[in-house]
Amino acid sequence: MSDSNSLFTPQELREWQLALAEADRYNIFCHCRKCDREWVASTQVPCTCGSTNIEYIACWQFPDD
Ligand SMILES: [Zn+2]
Repeated sequence: MSDSNSLFTPQELREWQLALAEADRYNIFCHCRKCDREWVASTQVPCTCGSTNIEYIACWQFPDD
């Protein structure tokens, strides 16, 4: 029996899992040192206040995962 009952080919499934892992890896907690705003992003983006003085903390660095 083949994988014909699966929505994804093994290749697609693997790429999807890799994409998930990537997204999980790039959960970045951001804290603006200028206006004190806090948010979570997938990339190191500047604050909405225009400040680029941001503290970036990768979520996976938090011990209570
Ligand atoms: Zn700000």
